[in-house]
Amino acid sequence: MKAAAFDYVKPKALNEALSLLEQGGDDARLIAGGQTLLATLNMRLSEPSILIDITDVAELKGISVVGDALRIGALVTHTEIEDSDLVAKHAPLLKAAAPHIAHRAIRNLGTWGGSLAYGDPAAEWPACSLTLQATMVIHGPSGERKISAKDFFIDLYTTSLEPDEILVATEIPLAKSNQVFYFHELARRHGDYAVAGLAAVAEKQGNVLSNCAFTFFSVSSTPVMATAAQDLVNGQALNDQVIAKAVEAARQEIDAIADITNSAEAKTHLIGVLLERGLKHLVA
Ligand code: FAD
Repeated sequence: MKAAAFDYVKPKALNEALSLLEQGGDDARLIAGGQTLLATLNMRLSEPSILIDITDVAELKGISVVGDALRIGALVTHTEIEDSDLVAKHAPLLKAAAPHIAHRAIRNLGTWGGSLAYGDPAAEWPACSLTLQATMVIHGPSGERKISAKDFFIDLYTTSLEPDEILVATEIPLAKSNQVFYFHELARRHGDYAVAGLAAVAEKQGNVLSNCAFTFFSVSSTPVMATAAQDLVNGQALNDQVIAKAVEAARQEIDAIADITNSAEAKTHLIGVLLERGLKHLVA
């Protein structure tokens, strides 16, 4: 199928993009890498009458350290994250996750902000942003607002972004020297969306983990944190008994939802498999 006809504009500045978005109302749609949007247009799942291409907006670009945070612009591509020395140093979880997103050709175009704004529960970046306690920097008609990742992802493909707002960047606390991380996803083939995945970080001292964050993705309508499992592990000397309790807690607390090929029971099982592997890796 082909997309319905639409107008196309390419603003050079954030203010211009925001004005165009406000003027366009419900008929306007932002386009970044187009790696998700173009497919939905071609399938006529969405028929905006004007596309606002934000790829020339300088305010949305770049990776930098600002104070005690790593700032990733919304237009930063998956490839830029994968190849960035700053990301490797300050948010190594993201470097580990990037190669799991589709294939390099898609990663060259797809963007950090596009993935977060789209809010796909099977995507890697929403889960990582939750695990890393990211803050979303959003601009709209009334200026800038900031919201934590935990309040940003509301439901299936639904975030707290209003139609007249643009996600500008994300701020991520810099990784601490005692922080360890684990990223793994179970997929049928490399590059496919995960059947289930886990993005985890913790602070480690000997065999004790603290400030744990375990986020599962592709198991529910949003990425979901296993808070009961985190509480069980925090501050405990990790042994087989604690791991077994945490695995059981995660399976109990997450209400897994089936997708077209995998049952909720299979996903619940995989949550435990991932957490057991993750905990053993984190403490090794
Ligand atoms: P677009 O497609 O341009 O936009 C997506 C949505 O976000 C649109 O609604 C747009 O209006 C909105 N938007 C974009 N930028 C902003 C912004 N700054 N502020 C507000 N709204 C904005 N993703 C994964 O995570 N894992 C995968 O395994 C994976 N596999 C894929 C396989 C294939 C074959 C393809 C084609 C895509 C795959 N993707 C996967 C999706 C890919 O990662 C996209 O890059 C990602 O969804 C974001 O798309 P984009 O940056 O191209 O945004």
